[in-house]
Amino acid sequence: MNALLVYPEFPETFWSFRHALKFLGKRAAQPPLGLMTVAALLPVAWKKRLVDTNVERLRDRDLKWADVVFVSGMHIQRESLVEIVERCRARGLRTVVGGPIASSVPAAELKADHVVIGEAESLIGDLSRALEAGTARPEYQAAERPEMASSPLPDLSLIKMRRYSTMTVQYSRGCPFNCEFCDIIEIYGRRPRTKAVAQVLAELDQLLAAGWRETVFIVDDNFIGNKARAKELLRAMAEWREETGARFDFITEASLNLADDVELMQLMKDAGFRSVFLGVETPDESGLIASNKLQNTRRSLLESVATIQSYGLQVMGGFILGFDTDKEDIFDRMVEFIQKSGIPIAMVGLLQAMPGTQLFRRLRREDRIVDAGGGNNTFCDRLNFLPRMDSAKLIEGYRDVMKRIYNCEAYYERVKLYLNRAHPKPAKRAAGERAKKLATPPFLTRDNMRALANSIVRQGVLGRHQWSYWKFLASAATKYRRCFGTAMTLAVMGYHFQVMTRKLSKAMDKATKAAKAENELLATTDGSAR
Ligand code: SF4
Repeated sequence: MNALLVYPEFPETFWSFRHALKFLGKRAAQPPLGLMTVAALLPVAWKKRLVDTNVERLRDRDLKWADVVFVSGMHIQRESLVEIVERCRARGLRTVVGGPIASSVPAAELKADHVVIGEAESLIGDLSRALEAGTARPEYQAAERPEMASSPLPDLSLIKMRRYSTMTVQYSRGCPFNCEFCDIIEIYGRRPRTKAVAQVLAELDQLLAAGWRETVFIVDDNFIGNKARAKELLRAMAEWREETGARFDFITEASLNLADDVELMQLMKDAGFRSVFLGVETPDESGLIASNKLQNTRRSLLESVATIQSYGLQVMGGFILGFDTDKEDIFDRMVEFIQKSGIPIAMVGLLQAMPGTQLFRRLRREDRIVDAGGGNNTFCDRLNFLPRMDSAKLIEGYRDVMKRIYNCEAYYERVKLYLNRAHPKPAKRAAGERAKKLATPPFLTRDNMRALANSIVRQGVLGRHQWSYWKFLASAATKYRRCFGTAMTLAVMGYHFQVMTRKLSKAMDKATKAAKAENELLATTDGSAR
């Protein structure tokens, strides 16, 4: 059996990092880890190929080769996913769709022959036997959430590694918290399930053996969902780095209560963690309480962020506008908070009610759902529900927040604030033994040398904000020499956000004009009908 695994294309969003990746000569941020894991679960005798349409074209000859096509993705990849399935079906090819999208979109809308709902580990054996026998059912639903011990080493041989800026490892699934808008806990549950330390180290060994030397993203729902186990892993990772000499940088996703555990933050630093994505959501405590984000309440959010940054961890923050509790001052409060936080990469989005979430169910009861949404909350000009605030004001306020925080000067100010906290001058740093030296970011890696050259041309020579850029470059080269690589990586990332903010603004203008024209047309039609 020839199995073709296809990963649909992501639309251009703030999350795609597309404009920054060009500087690095990369085509996508991360490889399709889910499909690489599925490939490892399929029968050994099957031949496998993987096409990630984010980094290469899906060719007719790939389809001609295949007996069955597996497509997996998230809600946001829906358009590309359905196109791929339709293209396969037009050629009479059998299709199987799985991944998070299968849990949030009705099976009939995915148009595949077979839809797999839930995690693959527990049902892929049955499915592949049935595919071979020609008896596969239209729908497979995992009876339970499998333990991570059953998750195999992902098949790294199927991807073109150099086309990605980071490699990925998954250590755990699930999160113990209960945020109302979250679809992760609906899909993966609230009991964190973790891999054994040996499994994770085997994945790191595999990456090292394949020649990977850059960043590794631990793509967990919440890396610290089980703090005791996370600490056990971190100790082993620090030893592994020491033994192998591997200078991997790690990034991950966690919850803000990381700030409460000094030991955990120190262990992350020692293991080589450089960055962590946290859902901050809103500076308004009533919004946090109403959305059940209780772990962010009863604390100073700004202090928590600063504490985490002081362990050398760059905080990337998720922020949401559109909670029922938001008042008109929320936009100014959001900008003020983000500027004071020293969070350079602030992912601000409009609240989306994802199908399957507690939020979606509540809004449906309140008759406020407009549609299922597109799964994209950081580059969107519409809401999929009726907000409490006037929606035009909310969308306009969102655009204003983005423009203000990604204004060049404002962005570089945040970068400098973060660098001061995370990389204090050497005199203030403790002297270090080898593990601590490994935890110091390299001055410039090969990839960010290339990014620097591109950045100077695109931002310093051809860019719109040359003065701000050169001023920042001058301070990066003098005041922040000790972390010059990090400073320039952030300058490049800022370029992506500036381009995307301009695009968002244009898309919103277009949408506003179209809505205005539609209203005028309706008014004219109404008038002539009367
Ligand atoms: S902390 Fe994050 S992953 Fe956990 S429930 Fe809240 S939004 Fe979901």
